[in-house]
Amino acid sequence: MRRIDLKRAQAARAGTIRDINRQIVLNYVREREPISRAEIARETALQRSTVSTIVDALQTDGLIEEIGAGESTGGRRPTLLRIRTSGVMAIGVDITPSQTTVAVSNLAGRVLELERFPSDPQFKKAIAQIVDCVQKMVSKYQGSIEAIGVSLPGLVDTTMSRVIYVPYFKWRDIEIAKIISEATGLRVSVENDANASALAELWFGRPEVSHVRDFIMVLVGEGIGTGIVFDGRIYKGKYSAAGEFGHMIIAHKGPVACSCGNYDCWEAFSSERAALARYRQMAQRTHDTRLRDFGELIERALAGERAAENALLETAHYLGIGISNLIVGFSPEAVVVGGRITRAWPLVADALGETVERSIRRGLPSARIRASTLGDPPTLMGALSLVLANKFASVPAV
Ligand SMILES: [Zn+2]
Repeated sequence: MRRIDLKRAQAARAGTIRDINRQIVLNYVREREPISRAEIARETALQRSTVSTIVDALQTDGLIEEIGAGESTGGRRPTLLRIRTSGVMAIGVDITPSQTTVAVSNLAGRVLELERFPSDPQFKKAIAQIVDCVQKMVSKYQGSIEAIGVSLPGLVDTTMSRVIYVPYFKWRDIEIAKIISEATGLRVSVENDANASALAELWFGRPEVSHVRDFIMVLVGEGIGTGIVFDGRIYKGKYSAAGEFGHMIIAHKGPVACSCGNYDCWEAFSSERAALARYRQMAQRTHDTRLRDFGELIERALAGERAAENALLETAHYLGIGISNLIVGFSPEAVVVGGRITRAWPLVADALGETVERSIRRGLPSARIRASTLGDPPTLMGALSLVLANKFASVPAV
């Protein structure tokens, strides 16, 4: 996946220059809207006539639209452009260990409609539910759905759009993209949840993250996943299997088993499940420890319940140990934490930072640790980005 780099774009081969210029103009509209043709020409150093031709083509394709006149700087008031928010739509399928969300969004990533249901561990039932829901949305938004993106918590070979392994459900070697594509007639991309979330941060995150070239997305949910971004691209490694840091050994015997069965993995110490297990242990004599979910643990902690606070802080401590290891190894500019734990950011941020501060890097400027800017959950935006980012990238995102 590649972001538009203007300096490199200048040196592009003649055969692709028109496509690249088109992406540059589209991205300028996306990032600076509302913007006029003259402003695009000025900022990109493209010929005014080239910009006009490209804008006409993008309008014809339904990607951008005019929204009236802006302020005059002397002459005629310029016509402003923005990304078209009706017309091109994406469907995102976000599969997590507990629930599945199917959503439709416009080109700007705004969710227009979503449906949520419990994830069925049996693949045949799960896929039937997903296909049924997707088909309903496809027929409702007839002709406007561009493609479908699927995010899931497992190993995905993105070159083949094939699921290699989803540990929570024991799904192996599944051609999920092919099945959904055959049922809907649409293109389907599949990606690991942490990589998809990292892609979403790159394209739709706030500038403090999206403008960073090297960052690591740490996705905290029922498990722990990481998406590594080098030079504005997702690093996938051989067989798209990079980023399985959830299974790095952190200490001896965490409070829960990792999805792989081991008790020593980062996930066994730092996932939502680990925090819930700690809480049950700490609060069993003083409180009713039956919780609806991890969200309720956060609510209790924010309301000042000591055991809930301590369970979160201890989990943040171990999360910090893993993040510290990643920072020592990769020296990224930022680490982005995504998942429900970010709702308790004011409570956990210091605990994360302290562990990292104690590492060998003392003296070097520390990598910034940020909460995801995508909202909750970032994985839904991740699934949608698999479609949307392709509209803005000169090279397909997946
Ligand atoms: Zn593991």
